[in-house]
Amino acid sequence: MKYILRLSKNWGERVIRDEVLAPYTYFKIGGPADYFVTAKSSKELEEIVLMAESSNVPWFILGGGSNILVGDLGFRGLVIKNEAESVNVETGELTAESGIKMSKLAAFSIKNGLAGLEVFMSVPGTLGGAIFNNSHFRPEKNEFIGNLVESVELLYKGLALRSRARPYQTITVNKDWFKFKYDHSRLHDEPGVILKVKLRLKSGDPEMLKATSMKLMKERNASQPIGQLSCGCMFKNPAGFSAGQLIDNIGMKGKKIGGAMISDKHANFVINTGGAKAKEVIKLMDLIKTAVKSKSGIDFKPEIFMVGEF
Ligand SMILES: Cc1cc2nc3c(=O)[nH]c(=O)nc-3n(C[C@H](O)[C@H](O)[C@H](O)COP(=O)(O)OP(=O)(O)OC[C@H]3O[C@@H](n4cnc5c(N)ncnc54)[C@H](O)[C@@H]3O)c2cc1C
Repeated sequence: MKYILRLSKNWGERVIRDEVLAPYTYFKIGGPADYFVTAKSSKELEEIVLMAESSNVPWFILGGGSNILVGDLGFRGLVIKNEAESVNVETGELTAESGIKMSKLAAFSIKNGLAGLEVFMSVPGTLGGAIFNNSHFRPEKNEFIGNLVESVELLYKGLALRSRARPYQTITVNKDWFKFKYDHSRLHDEPGVILKVKLRLKSGDPEMLKATSMKLMKERNASQPIGQLSCGCMFKNPAGFSAGQLIDNIGMKGKKIGGAMISDKHANFVINTGGAKAKEVIKLMDLIKTAVKSKSGIDFKPEIFMVGEF
């Protein structure tokens, strides 16, 4: 280890050494993090990131772990698991900490007669992870989480790059700041931590919203390998195409490398059938990319994020 994580007294006993990351991911794949800690509030999240920064320790924010593939050799640095999840509502505006699960947030908004989040009930992960990637439900219906954003409290480095005052500063930004696109936000290119999010929602009838969310969840369960170990869709849909359909067209469903297999229910899902290694998933992804490119000339881009050492 080439660094020392300097912690204030109260954090020392909460940081775990050599914590295996696989159990914290939907894929159940990944080696150990040198350091691992859980943040229970946005204040804690901010505090621990600033501590890692001032110790020059690489850090990574882990939300629900539903969109990442962690390398077999793990992560050299500090993984911060975000479990900050307080939420409240005031005159149609819902403010939540970024570690709240999307299903919990959707249930809360439905109960409070607020419409917009019911479609995200079955999207795994946290609010922070959803904003980071502009999570979608049915993109063709313009159902993106970014559309609901009013403002976000962010720990952000960009300003400090100019002022050199502090390594990170807390700023409040609006929806436009994020430059949301399909599976993309500005945070892919500029480091920042989502602390709190204010969403603007319309009013709706709780019973109808609940019925909609249940219906959509049922439809989803019928078309995706829910209950199996996966990371959701592996590749972004190229403009005008379905990535799953392109993979299916070349007969790759069921193709297996080690413990990693292309789902026979939805071809854009890779399943960990038991004991799969990150390296096997990567090999299978390469095989898909090459096959699709040679058959249809289309370049696939991964939808998932690779973390750590492979
Ligand atoms: C079965 C299944 C179905 C899925 N269906 C969909 C779907 O319909 N639509 C869709 O869009 N996605 C879908 N996904 C992918 C995934 O659920 C989303 O991308 C989700 O938003 C990821 O959130 P997370 O908290 O799990 O993020 P993680 O996987 O933990 O992290 C993903 C990235 O977000 C960053 N991040 C997380 N929190 C923060 C924060 N507070 N501040 C800054 N960066 C942060 C991480 O550092 C990492 O780079 C699916 C996944 C699965 C397993």
